[in-house]
Parts: sequence; structure tokens; C-alpha cells
Amino acid sequence: MTGKIIIVSAPSGCGKSTIINALLERGDIDLQFSVSATSRKPRGEEKHGIHYYFLTEEEFRERISRDEFVEYEEVYAGRFYGTLKSEIDRITGDGHNVVLDIDVKGAMNVKQLYGDRALTLFIMPPSIDELRRRLEGRATDAPEVIDERVRKAAYELEFAPHYDAVVVNDNLAVAVEDTHKVITDFLSK
Ligand code: ADP
Ligand code: 5GP
Repeated sequence: MTGKIIIVSAPSGCGKSTIINALLERGDIDLQFSVSATSRKPRGEEKHGIHYYFLTEEEFRERISRDEFVEYEEVYAGRFYGTLKSEIDRITGDGHNVVLDIDVKGAMNVKQLYGDRALTLFIMPPSIDELRRRLEGRATDAPEVIDERVRKAAYELEFAPHYDAVVVNDNLAVAVEDTHKVITDFLSK
């Protein structure tokens, strides 16, 4: 049996990693995280092989030419992110479900590839002002990077209607519960 694919997107700073980690820690859903490759530098406590495979731009391009990605995007100028075929195959091949934390374009592409085997979930911030406050509170990005992420959020929010489900992350505990329900409903189908 092969596992299913849960695709989660949200504007950066919305709390997507916090929600995914809460679900993984809770441990009552058979779900494993697909570690993406990126050419951006590690931030805060991020570790190679756990949060991302951190590559140079040259290494990233080599992997593109070896056709190692299910999808990849230049999410921010000069910064590439991609889902590795090896991650999806390793996890779903063993029958486990996989969760992808990827941007809006990547999400649409993966959904197209996997169809009903994949669920797309969009996490919304309560407001753009609150999104900025969270990015500032996280204190891992320079002010110009925060500006870039907030600017991009408006564009990303336009994709929400194309997702199978939308959860608003206002109160964190409620958002974790809502996300848990959406995913368990999908997996039980
Ligand atoms: P993302 O993965 O979407 O970029 P993070 O999970 O890193 O976002 O969250 C960004 C910041 O917002 C973190 O400092 C996190 O602790 C905080 N945060 C997450 N959810 C909430 C919430 N519901 N209310 C307030 N702060 C939150
Ligand atoms: P961050 O730099 O905050 O970790 O991520 C920035 C954006 O890149 C987020 O929207 C995140 O979902 C997206 N992202 C992370 N990994 C991938 C990936 O493998 N593919 C795509 N398309 N986007 C990704």
C-alpha cells in the first residue's frame, strides 16, 4: 500500500511549521515530514537534513539537471526550494503518509501530479498586520526579508480558493485541532 500526500501552504510567518510540528509531536496520525532542498541559508536553529537539505545554488542546479525533484520553485529571488522524489518515495513507498510544506505554485503542481491521493490545505493568517507581527516576533529574518515576505503574502492569499481546505491560524490550539480534523477526515476516506 502506498501512503497519501498532504500538501500544506501558507504565507511565511503564518504558523505553518508550528502547526505541522504540533501534529507530528502529537503522533496519532501516521505522517512524516518531507524534507525539502533549498538554496537559502539556515535560519535560527535549523538543521541540515531535518528542516531542509541546505544546498548551494550550484548543487541545487545539479540536482535539477539530474531530475531529482518532483517540483521546484524559485520562491524568492535567488532562493530555490524543491521537493525531492527520494523523500516522497521513501515515505509513501513504506505505506506512510507524507506532509509537504511547500509554496502555492509547488502545491498546485504536486496536486496535479497526484490527484485524489493528495490533499491541499491552506493556512491563513488572521490578518496581514498579525502576519508581520509574527515574522517580527520570530526574529529570524532581516527587516527587508520580512518586507519581502509580507508583500508576497497578498499574492499567496489569492490561491486559497484553489485548495481543498482552508484553516485560519488565529488561536493556535484551535488551528491545530482544525488541521487535525481536516487531515484525519481525508485519510479515512
Ligand atoms: P511559518 O512556518 O508559517 O513561516 P512559524 O511556524 O515559524 O511560521 O510561525 C511564525 C511565528 O508565529 C513563530 O514565532 C510562532 O511561534 C508564531 N505563531 C504561530 N502560530 C501563532 C498563533 N496562532 N498566534 C500567535 N503566534 C503564533
Ligand atoms: P522558508 O524560507 O520560510 O522556510 O520557506 C519559504 C517558502 O518556501 C514557504 O512558502 C515554503 O512553504 C516554501 N517551500 C519550502 N519547501 C519547498 C519546496 O520543496 N517546494 C516549494 N515549491 N516550496 C517550498
